Amino acid sequence: MTTTTVWNPATEEVIAEVPAFTQDQVREAIALSHSAQQKWRRLPLAERQLFLYKIAELVDANVEELAQLESQDVGKPIRSARAEVASVASCFRYYAGAIDKVHGDTITLDEGISFTFHEPLGVVAVITPWNFPLPIASWNIAPALAAGNSVIVKPASMTPLSTVRLGQLVDEISPIEGLFQVVTGSGSSVGATLLDDPRVHKISFTGSTEVGQSILRASADTFKHVTLELGGKSANLIFEDADVSAAAQAAPWAVFDNSGQDCCARSRVLVQRKVLDDFIDGFVEATKKLRIGDPSLIESDLGPLVSAEHRASVQSFLEPQLDYVYKGDAFQEKGFWLAPHIVLDKEGTSKAATDEIFGPVAVIIPFDTEAEAIEIANNSIYGLSGSIWTKDVARSLRVARALESGTLSVNSNSSIRVQTPFGGMKQSGMGRELGLEGLLGFTELKTVFVKTVD
Ligand code: NAP
Repeated sequence: MTTTTVWNPATEEVIAEVPAFTQDQVREAIALSHSAQQKWRRLPLAERQLFLYKIAELVDANVEELAQLESQDVGKPIRSARAEVASVASCFRYYAGAIDKVHGDTITLDEGISFTFHEPLGVVAVITPWNFPLPIASWNIAPALAAGNSVIVKPASMTPLSTVRLGQLVDEISPIEGLFQVVTGSGSSVGATLLDDPRVHKISFTGSTEVGQSILRASADTFKHVTLELGGKSANLIFEDADVSAAAQAAPWAVFDNSGQDCCARSRVLVQRKVLDDFIDGFVEATKKLRIGDPSLIESDLGPLVSAEHRASVQSFLEPQLDYVYKGDAFQEKGFWLAPHIVLDKEGTSKAATDEIFGPVAVIIPFDTEAEAIEIANNSIYGLSGSIWTKDVARSLRVARALESGTLSVNSNSSIRVQTPFGGMKQSGMGRELGLEGLLGFTELKTVFVKTVD
């Protein structure tokens, strides 16, 4: 079998060789998944719940191993990796608890009663990106299994290790062979085979908008259900009536966490002109405190970027003519390091201000009025996430309703909780993950009419 080489982006060392599945092997996995799903959907709900709770326990018992793999594979600071793996266990627990709380409707009619049932879809394929491999996989595996489906995950070729290990661990406790499988290899071969096969009923894809478009087109041939979680260029709106100091202290984590490789990164920082200077001072001061370094050390806040190619892509946005208010320094030794950069763009028209960079680059854009802030924020093909900083409750709700964005936070920069739906508007995607909406996304509604009149 041919293999794909996996590198540690902090050291540039080879850390694993992972099998590249052939198309025939992927089809075998689909056949096994199909037969597993037929058995799984008939198991009592309590048995389904037990399996998901056991997966949560297994993840908890192996936090350190999974976190180390994620840290070495993505270059993610170990503190973040541990927290992310812990969140994976929480995700399985949440959906274990939700399994027996998905009810249909009762619709009374003149001539009888209709009932609706949320039926499983069948075989679900999950295609994941390299930035948060295990959490994003779990946001799909857990609800898909909870709803009675079987699951095949194709992780990103650069960062497959934690997902492969989760697959091995789950194999040891799975009540049915092939219920959850991991297939590794390229998107163009393994991903395309999953897309082409009519026995796969849903594709849940997280990745770039460009590949998302091709997934949507390819899914049409076999009418698959599709959820797309794609790119972003989220806005962080700071109004003059906000706690500007709190907003400035929080802003670095909102854009530079995971070295900016975050679809929800608030990389456009919109600041009302009256508080612009105060905000910039606080933002730069807080950014300087971020510790960039060896991901295996507990004190490191930021690691390297995922690859040399990706760093080159991020660097291409750092044009010399931009007005930099901060340029950080990072190691120039081995590894794909790049420190945070903050740019002031008064017009908001530079490529850095409009395109998704997916790296540690923030662009500050000043505004004068609330209406102007909304217009700038919405002037993007994306609509994934964003923040609103203000002490005026009415304004926070007025602006939140006006923003074309799927997931917003007020006086906070956190977007994602297992209990609440998450997803994007416009070219940031379609469908929702997480919360009960996420579970329903892995079901299909069936209506049954019972005649009650003679
Ligand atoms: P990507 O290049 O689109 O790849 C994502 C996944 O799709 C990988 O597993 C990739 O496999 C696979 N793939 C590539 N081409 C394919 C094809 N033709 N058919 C089927 N599968 C294919 O994205 P990425 O570079 O990994 O991730 C970065 C992007 O993801 C950013 O745009 C970011 O905003 C977005 N993202 C969005 C969210 C969200 O929730 N909205 C979360 C995280 C990331 P290979 O690795 O083998 O190429």
